[in-house]
Amino acid sequence: MAKVTLKGVKKYFGNVKALDSIDLEIEDGSFVVLLGPSGCGKTTLMRCIAGLEELTDGVVIFDDMDVSELPPKDRNVSMVFQSYAVWPHMKVRDNISYPLKLKKVRKEEIEQRIKWVSDILHISELLDRYPAQLSGGQRQRVAVARAIVHQPSVLLMDEPLSNLDALLRVKMRSELKKLHERIKVTTIYVTHDQTEAMTMGDKIAVMNAGKIIQYGTPEEIYRKPRTIFVAGFVGSPQMNFVTMKVKNKEERYYAENSALLIPINGDFAGDSIVVGIRPEHLTLENREGYLSFEAQVYFVEKLMSESIIHLFLDEETKIVVKLPYDISFKEGEKIRVFFSTESVHFFDPVTTERIEQ
Ligand code: ATP
Repeated sequence: MAKVTLKGVKKYFGNVKALDSIDLEIEDGSFVVLLGPSGCGKTTLMRCIAGLEELTDGVVIFDDMDVSELPPKDRNVSMVFQSYAVWPHMKVRDNISYPLKLKKVRKEEIEQRIKWVSDILHISELLDRYPAQLSGGQRQRVAVARAIVHQPSVLLMDEPLSNLDALLRVKMRSELKKLHERIKVTTIYVTHDQTEAMTMGDKIAVMNAGKIIQYGTPEEIYRKPRTIFVAGFVGSPQMNFVTMKVKNKEERYYAENSALLIPINGDFAGDSIVVGIRPEHLTLENREGYLSFEAQVYFVEKLMSESIIHLFLDEETKIVVKLPYDISFKEGEKIRVFFSTESVHFFDPVTTERIEQ
């Protein structure tokens, strides 16, 4: 196991800036998720940690050792890919033992390690099969077994569940998390799936355009998104954003539009402000201290356990509300929606950064 530290990591491919001054500290034994949209640099960052890409600038440090110049084989890292990458001509047993044979580990110890890893990944019955005789989920378990059998300092996983169907993905998600709790190897996990990130990560690094925009626990990312990008990327349905005017009345600041007047704590010097509120924080119940607005229904989506109500606040502003399944409305109906001021997020429209309340 190792603590992983990145300082000022930059990576250019010709003129393409894939990574832009990445600073990141990953605690020994933790499970960190790199989350972001396609092309934001997740895989490149992972490959820089593995030593598969040469850095344009910056350093990668494992514990106290600068490994930036070390080739992958000397970093004691393992990778698991979306494509499984198990060798088709080798039986499962040989796929798993291969990294140990390369390291010239004694035969008895290889047997012990195969037993250990196949027990924890539930593949003991599959050891004498070829990969072609396995399901996708079983193949991915074999790939994970091969990656952890030699007890790497760092385990890197690049979208390992993307090729699995939805049910299996959910099952493997919890299995990988349980596996990590057992073996506690420092794990860096790439995904663009926010549910995977929120359920698996001890910490999440949200990336965009080659930068880490926010690094924090899932709760911090959800409750205090640092920018409009993070607020919009994490949460489903997406957070509602409404740009409002800033009014100063009796020495207090308010965000104001034709339907709403929301107090802003503290000073905000701009003329306008972006107000964010999550669909799940809007309700039909009026509780003490809640604010409200009226809006017109234009579309209702029925999901398994919830109704997603799309509303027009005014001609230009759409709002989405997440309500229990049994609540429904007709198109054109006017409804009153309530919310607590504590659930409101404010962002600077110029910098897009969060305004702390
Ligand atoms: P995805 O989720 O689609 O896999 P990603 O976040 O992993 O995306 P990267 O694969 O790291 O993104 O790519 C980051 C940027 O670097 C992209 O603009 C990509 O086109 C570019 N890039 C990656 N590899 C190379 C390469 N070998 N040569 C040139 N450009 C590259």
